[in-house]
Amino acid sequence: MTTIEKANIDWVNLGFGYYKTDKRFVSNFKDGAWDEGALVDDENIVMNESAGVLQYAQTCFEGMKAYTTVDGKVVIFRPDMNAKRMSDTAKRLEMPVFPEDKFVEAVEKVVKANLKYVPPYGTGASLYIRPFMFGIGPVMGVKPAPEFQFRIFTSPVGPYFKGGAKPITLKVSDFDRAAPNGTGHVKAGLNYAMSLHAIVQAHKEGYDENLYPDALTRTKVEETGGANFFFVTKDNKVVTPKSDTILPSITRRSLMYVAKEYLSLEVEEREVYLSELSEFSECGLCGTAAVISPVGKIVDHGKEICFPSGMEEMGPISKKLYDTLTGIQSGKIEAPEGWIKVIA
Ligand SMILES: *Cc1c(COP(=O)(O)O)cnc(C)c1O
Repeated sequence: MTTIEKANIDWVNLGFGYYKTDKRFVSNFKDGAWDEGALVDDENIVMNESAGVLQYAQTCFEGMKAYTTVDGKVVIFRPDMNAKRMSDTAKRLEMPVFPEDKFVEAVEKVVKANLKYVPPYGTGASLYIRPFMFGIGPVMGVKPAPEFQFRIFTSPVGPYFKGGAKPITLKVSDFDRAAPNGTGHVKAGLNYAMSLHAIVQAHKEGYDENLYPDALTRTKVEETGGANFFFVTKDNKVVTPKSDTILPSITRRSLMYVAKEYLSLEVEEREVYLSELSEFSECGLCGTAAVISPVGKIVDHGKEICFPSGMEEMGPISKKLYDTLTGIQSGKIEAPEGWIKVIA
């Protein structure tokens, strides 16, 4: 293994923001086909003023991380899952699918070209990877763009929690995130555009995040703006909400596997009602960014649900799940076949 010279960055104090790295991958879809794609230096995109993404928000994305394992390897976690999810999203948004094997290859290329921005082991920081696709060709009438661009850039990001994961407080939102038969199950930019007002509002009121109930009955837990839920019952069963309008989080699916196969816990994917929240002993959010964010309190229109795990630290089962999954990711615990892709 060659030693990688690292960029001069204060990894531990790095926040979660855009930081320009050396190379990004770009491929264009024109006349019905994707070109070869290439690594480029320019972080700016020039496009027609009537591009599909600008007029009708035809855009989608993925989010993943490269990081350094305990033995100094640079790896990514289950990139095939991101490739598959992006192809599902593209189909729902009438965008051409970027071939899944090419997606994984391209991610690998970009990370390799930006190795000096992959934070060293032990800093808690990582190299965030953002694959995305958008309609770049002009449209006037409402229809899919004639041309698309697929792009992947990377940005080093600091540790999600500085000084331990503090439980957060959620508000049961009066806004809807995803309509039945809508786009809640795909990673479309539009889902985020319309969640901005709700999150800004929630922050103003002192909450960390919104809990979106199902839009149809407003009685069931769906997810937050960017993370899935899991709950722990008093007899240590791990429960996650089942719904067609939840974005299928790769972290959540991995945690459920870990709960069952590594921790021998009972797991259940089922409808979770707001009315049963007070019966759970732990609650957490899961996603690539934080892996698990513990939830200490949910406020449902004045009614406070305080989980027994409290506002100081993660509950014991959440902690076990967190330690096991991050242990697998960092190479301290043996990973299931195919979960870890070594880049360098
Ligand atoms: C990306 C995303 C998640 C988390 O998915 P991961 O694959 O675990 O990162 C959860 N909910 C929404 C709405 C998302 O967009």
